[in-house]
Amino acid sequence: MDGNTGDEDGAHHPLPESKRHEGSHTGQRDEGDPDAVQGSEHTPSIRPRRDIVNRRFLALSAVLLAACTSLPVGQTAPSSSSVITTTTVVTTTTSTIADTTTTVLSSTPLGLITPTGIPVAVRLVSPDGYIVWSPCGNLTRVTDGEPIYGARVVLDPGHGGNRDIGSQGRNGLPEKVANLRVAFEAQAQLEARGIPTVLTRTADYATTIPVRARLADHLGAEVLVSIHHNGPTPGPSPTPGTEIFYQSFSAESRRLGGVLYEHVVDALSQFSDVQWAKAPDGGVITVLNEDGRDTYGMVRRPRTPAVLLEMGYMSNPSEAELFATVEYVEVAGRAIADAIEAYLSTDAPGTGWYEPGRTFRAAPGLSGAECVETPLE
Ligand SMILES: [Zn+2]
Repeated sequence: MDGNTGDEDGAHHPLPESKRHEGSHTGQRDEGDPDAVQGSEHTPSIRPRRDIVNRRFLALSAVLLAACTSLPVGQTAPSSSSVITTTTVVTTTTSTIADTTTTVLSSTPLGLITPTGIPVAVRLVSPDGYIVWSPCGNLTRVTDGEPIYGARVVLDPGHGGNRDIGSQGRNGLPEKVANLRVAFEAQAQLEARGIPTVLTRTADYATTIPVRARLADHLGAEVLVSIHHNGPTPGPSPTPGTEIFYQSFSAESRRLGGVLYEHVVDALSQFSDVQWAKAPDGGVITVLNEDGRDTYGMVRRPRTPAVLLEMGYMSNPSEAELFATVEYVEVAGRAIADAIEAYLSTDAPGTGWYEPGRTFRAAPGLSGAECVETPLE
């Protein structure tokens, strides 16, 4: 955030309507219809890939194995060791089936980790590579990479690149760095729990809001969390001033915000030496334009249930010192992972809503024309 304007820092600003279509000449489309890109010179050519075949074979094998090893209904399990082994196999294969059916949403790649480690959405597969949306929203060809067939979770480390560092602590810590560290930790925690997770940004480069939002939608994610550290300077508070902006049109987003709030505030509260800051309406809220639409692009644009999470205040020196520590990154990443896991696996209602929320018009985010591309291979 920018403390002077009280505004969200650039990356989560929506483009004003007058600019939303200007991106076309740079290859950036109106992300409201991310799959409507036309005019590519490449004819779609969907080739079966060995890894897809292997996944299908494994899934089929798992189903058959589960069917063969399941006990008939009503049968009492004997207590011999051989049956214990069989039970273990059933448990394992059931887990495999669940992962396969919930995360492999396509037989062709929906995304790609390029050879330089950049996650991108795949428009189509051609005989000579992949046609992808670049971080700045341009359609471009990438010849190789690690295909992604879907993700349950997409995490969005806010900001990136030289033109959009986000807020900055008095200790010199740029928000874009803190966001990325926390996102990496949360991703590692989620992946360790078997929840496939993709980041919208994996290093210090620029990428636009439409591109970030599209990646989550394109991968069929169930959760999108945009991770930030706040910029304004509200008054002191005995408790963390975490803010979460949810989609006004989505009950799932509202619950996701509540579950995140509960876990994040609880986790941060263990840092008892910090002098926290908090806005009077801090909590889980909507932030709407005067026209009644969600003001932040990372909230308004995705079809995926999404929230924008402001962990705390980078503008508060006491918190900025905390955000620079390894301990904080571990605690924050774990809290986000715990919350997402709880959201996905339970009906936990969450807490922390503050209604009716704010009315506010955010400034535009980084445009496609301002965005400097990072090498994809
Ligand atoms: Zn930010």
